[in-house]
Amino acid sequence: MATAELEPARAARTTMNTADAPDVLSFFLDLANASEAIERRLDGQVCARCGTAVGLRPGGHAYTRTPDGCLGWAVRVCGACWPAAPLGGDLMAAVAWVVAAGAVEEDVIDAWRSRRAVSVPVGRSWDVVRVSRPLGWAVLARLPRHVAGIGPVLEVPARETVEFLIPPGAASGWPARRELRDVFRVGPRGTSQFPALDLTLADGRRACCGRRWLTRVEPHRRPTTHGGALLECLLAEYRRRGEL
Ligand SMILES: [Zn+2]
Repeated sequence: MATAELEPARAARTTMNTADAPDVLSFFLDLANASEAIERRLDGQVCARCGTAVGLRPGGHAYTRTPDGCLGWAVRVCGACWPAAPLGGDLMAAVAWVVAAGAVEEDVIDAWRSRRAVSVPVGRSWDVVRVSRPLGWAVLARLPRHVAGIGPVLEVPARETVEFLIPPGAASGWPARRELRDVFRVGPRGTSQFPALDLTLADGRRACCGRRWLTRVEPHRRPTTHGGALLECLLAEYRRRGEL
């Protein structure tokens, strides 16, 4: 009797986990919320990015958030997926990324050497969606479960905000500002201040101003977050709060 009752439940859970498991190398997930599927990825039983079990090779490190800080996991990836870049990745590639967006190369190197954030124009390589910190963290808990990729996410303590980068113009069809309280869109002629890419939640460091990255920043793979996915997660959070 017990078996007959358990089987459908197990089948349902397996299905849910498969759909539910994100690329664990693209962000710093909350270990408390890790599903069995996520644990298999962290343990190296399956590919950390896509979940396949064949052709696995060393994939670098994934990081999970805990109340005491971040934990690193030596994971594996399949032949079709990229291993993790080291935190901060290649410095010159990172500089090239923000210079391509319109920043001045000498300013970038100067600022990052002294642990300051550097001013980067918005609108050429990406637009910025700035939300209140509680809203940003809530969205960040949802976004990795979405099929779309998650790009660089910046925490700005002085403003008590979190900033998402999305493709230029991706928010042009979004609902009006009065419907999306606590959401401010920065487009052309705006700027953002970027710390070096190795100042992250996972490594426990910040720029002098307090800014740090809440995701692993891999500009060559995921320079931005999918705009539609971000909007969906924002709306889902508003609905959860009963504000929509
Ligand atoms: Zn894979």
